[in-house]
Amino acid sequence: MKIKAAIIRELNKPLAVEEIELAPPKANEVLVKTAYTGFCHSDLSMIRGIFKMPLPLVLGHEAAGVVEDVGPGVTSVTKGDHVVATWMVACGHCPECKKGKGHICRTSFLPHQVGGLLDMTSRLTDSKGARLNHQTNVSGFAEYMVVPEAAAIKIRKDLPLDQACFIGCCLPTGFGAVYNAAGVKPGDSVAIWGMGGVGLNVVRGAMLRGGNPIIGIDLEGSKEAIAREFGATHFINNSKEDPVPIIKELTGGGADYCFEAIGDPGAILQAYWALGMGSTLITIGIPDEQPLTGLPLFYNPLHCKSVKGTLYGDIETGRDIPALADMAVRGDFNLGKLITRRFKIEEINDVVEAMKKRQIIGRWVCAWD
Ligand SMILES: [Zn+2]
Ligand SMILES: [Zn+2]
Repeated sequence: MKIKAAIIRELNKPLAVEEIELAPPKANEVLVKTAYTGFCHSDLSMIRGIFKMPLPLVLGHEAAGVVEDVGPGVTSVTKGDHVVATWMVACGHCPECKKGKGHICRTSFLPHQVGGLLDMTSRLTDSKGARLNHQTNVSGFAEYMVVPEAAAIKIRKDLPLDQACFIGCCLPTGFGAVYNAAGVKPGDSVAIWGMGGVGLNVVRGAMLRGGNPIIGIDLEGSKEAIAREFGATHFINNSKEDPVPIIKELTGGGADYCFEAIGDPGAILQAYWALGMGSTLITIGIPDEQPLTGLPLFYNPLHCKSVKGTLYGDIETGRDIPALADMAVRGDFNLGKLITRRFKIEEINDVVEAMKKRQIIGRWVCAWD
């Protein structure tokens, strides 16, 4: 079938919006009509080449939609079901999956590296018949998606799909960092670097857990209102002020948990210095491969400080995505307020530029109808 999609043909160049061909789903695959796709900071990292994936590639990994058709053998979804697409497809039998760590399934990383689905082949070709690669099993900036069955997670139908798309990436990444990676408890002090889609969900998760104070930090003062809307008790603009002494003052010596949701080596260092004794720095944002840190390791044992990385909020997708949808319907996540603009696919290069300039407040979503 012919579909419209946004393609990275060259790094650091405008995306190409083209009409391309999508092949039907094979065995254990699902065809989904895309409803909404969020633009995530990782999409910009993809355009910049920080994640090394083969080009040309159909962009997008934060999408929700409606099942249109299923291939042979599919049992978990049927035509008309609402689904969230997930970019991590736990195989169930690799060493990580056997330890209950499907969010770092080693089998699932392989198709990411070749730009294919689970059998390493692509369902996408351009108008000249040349292969286009999939981004992390999803390729959500496309009118329709063919994804593995385990990447199409059925959710309830009363959650609006423009909110549901966030359960594909920024919501579990932020919320899971608080609940699973950190295990924040009531009264724990929390500081978060980066008030984008992920950071706001860290703030919200910390609020749901009873964290206090909850300190949002961003280079843009324009992010303060939405940070407070999501549950931040304080906001620091770190382009104007050094947040470290302010956080030490607010928390009586340093935060119990610092979260870095940007992938910036300087912010990671700043977050480390804002830790209190017996505390943990959770790194969520993914820097490029080069930087080594200048963390003062002397304090790790002496002050019992830990540094911990987390991917996809350490979630188990099949179990947690429907549960997160239930919480979203209950209003726990304030997702209606996270959407600050709906755009058409033809406008996607404007969205890329706005993200480069740190002008996006909340999350902008591509609407397909
Ligand atoms: Zn993402
Ligand atoms: Zn696995």
